[in-house]
Amino acid sequence: MDASVLNYTVNDNVASFLNKNQKLYIGGKWVDTSSSKTFDVEDPATGKKLSSCAAGNSNDIDLAVKAAREAFDSGRWTGIPANERGKIIWKIGDLIDNHAEELAQLESLDNGKPVAVAGAADVPLSSDIFRYMAGWATKIEGETIPISVPYTPGAQYHSYTVKEPVGVVGQIIPWNFPLLMAAWKIAPALAAGCTIVLKPAEQTPLSALRLIEIIHDSGILPDGVLNLVTGLGEDAGAPLASHPHVDKVAFTGSTEVGKLITKAAAGNLKKVSLELGGKSPTIIFPDADIDAAIAGAASAIFFNHGQCCCAGSRLFAHEKVFDKVTEGISKIADQIKVGPGMDTSTEMGPLVSDEQFQKVSGYIESGKSEGGEVVAGGKYDNSSGGHFVHPTVFAKTNADMTLVKEEIFGPVVCAQPFSDENLEKIANEANNTTFGLAASVWTKNISVAHKLASKIRAGTVWINCHNIFDASLPFGGFKESGWGREMGHEVLKNYTEVKAVTVNL
Ligand code: NAP
Ligand code: MG
Repeated sequence: MDASVLNYTVNDNVASFLNKNQKLYIGGKWVDTSSSKTFDVEDPATGKKLSSCAAGNSNDIDLAVKAAREAFDSGRWTGIPANERGKIIWKIGDLIDNHAEELAQLESLDNGKPVAVAGAADVPLSSDIFRYMAGWATKIEGETIPISVPYTPGAQYHSYTVKEPVGVVGQIIPWNFPLLMAAWKIAPALAAGCTIVLKPAEQTPLSALRLIEIIHDSGILPDGVLNLVTGLGEDAGAPLASHPHVDKVAFTGSTEVGKLITKAAAGNLKKVSLELGGKSPTIIFPDADIDAAIAGAASAIFFNHGQCCCAGSRLFAHEKVFDKVTEGISKIADQIKVGPGMDTSTEMGPLVSDEQFQKVSGYIESGKSEGGEVVAGGKYDNSSGGHFVHPTVFAKTNADMTLVKEEIFGPVVCAQPFSDENLEKIANEANNTTFGLAASVWTKNISVAHKLASKIRAGTVWINCHNIFDASLPFGGFKESGWGREMGHEVLKNYTEVKAVTVNL
């Protein structure tokens, strides 16, 4: 790395990490790719190269799957008593906290998010899920089941179930929360007793690489339990999803690639879990605490630059408060300081890549040409090499506009008023999307809040809040937002098989 690439003082570990040629991690060793190909990772605030990573391919995936298979089949992980495995998983949480500053800096440099946000949200949420899952390692239990078999009168049976690890899991993750998505995937798989091959996003592989380096240096995980192959989706992700010796694939990313994953998984009918896109509604009633609703709706769309699968990208505000709400959110949007993530005064960093910059700015232009009214932002600028898009509020939008139908994955909210307080109608509007990931409802009327929550077809409904996450809360989507749940004890279903055992007494 050319030192001039970094305009900011960084933690010593970050500087030395970025200076290395990154390798693949297979069977407990750092190895080169079989192709020797590399790809560059850029700083999205400048467009300059940050680091160079190994471009893994199907041969590397094959080696990583072999290592994970061997670690699983030999019992190298499941053979460790559950309480000891739990302690190891807990220690990974401690390791993350002990390296919090450098992980936050790497996340900011690689993804573009403000370093303070990475330090306050991404890093502690990541350590927390390891601690939460550490406790589950000793609590993955079956049941005893009384059975009454009609064709064996008089016979007595003892039937019970056990939950066993699904086996080798392939995990493919996106760039919006690189460390946290790695943590959401690795922690439950380890708790369930699985072994892992992880494929981070090509835009943001650094924090996962560093996390695995930290785990490797601590010596706490047996070789082959956790493997990492960096590379491009088509070259490394696709062979992982289709690999015949992978028992399960867990994917977070676009709905489009999620559909490809299901096809790739069909070869050996591996289990699939998918956490995909969204077009989540934020619904504000006139009786809501309007100041709180304005702040909440702004944060719902602008947090992480709108690069959240659950971003509140469709705003429905009652006509009595519509102008006040859109003006309030616009005022917040205008005041948000956009800049490099490593600048501590920055409140919104650049988008992750030029591809996302082109995509999001394209949506802004399509919104304008389809008759949407820009009441804040609408500006974007890549003249410095960084991918900066200003927080944008569109009023006068409707359900037929591309902007309202498709996932933008940027800081762009589409506002629409509603006049009627008929909950059926409001729910129909909120549900008028192929997605079903999340929603928020803002009202002081608890009856309205709960009734609407029950009518919304989404995996998460927040009432008088948005973007509230906890390791114990399941998260995932209805409809085209995915299959299965991340986090909570629900996620363990993704990583376990149920076996029924019957004894003839
Ligand atoms: P994506 O293509 O779905 O990428 C997610 C992950 O899948 C990455 O690791 C990617 O590798 C990998 N991948 C790509 N093609 C694959 C294939 N054929 N087989 C297996 N793995 C494959 O997402 P993106 O291109 O980065 O972003 C596009 C859009 O996806 C965004 O604009 C946004 O709408 C949505 N998105 C959603 C989420 C979410 O949390 N739900 C997160 C990120 C993006 P590469 O990195 O090499 O592509
Ligand atoms: Mg892609």
